Amino acid sequence: MPFVIAEPCIGVKDKSCVEVCPVNCIYEGEDQFYIHPDECIDCQACEAACPVQAIFPDNGVPEKWASFTARNRAFFQK
Ligand code: SF4
Repeated sequence: MPFVIAEPCIGVKDKSCVEVCPVNCIYEGEDQFYIHPDECIDCQACEAACPVQAIFPDNGVPEKWASFTARNRAFFQK
């Protein structure tokens, strides 16, 4: 159950999550950060650190941002 970064990150990119992730699996994209779905160890540290509450477990992403689960994965399939 990897974690997913959703819409609130766009244009904010606070980076607090990057600093707390113990396995460095949060990568910078053009307009938001993304969590590598295979590298994430589900520790939840980023979820608590995010000042805009953009991070959710993949089974807890709000419906309106459901597309972000695929969006996070797609970022690493280029
Ligand atoms: Fe990194 Fe933990 Fe967040 Fe996964 S849940 S992205 S391992 S800080």
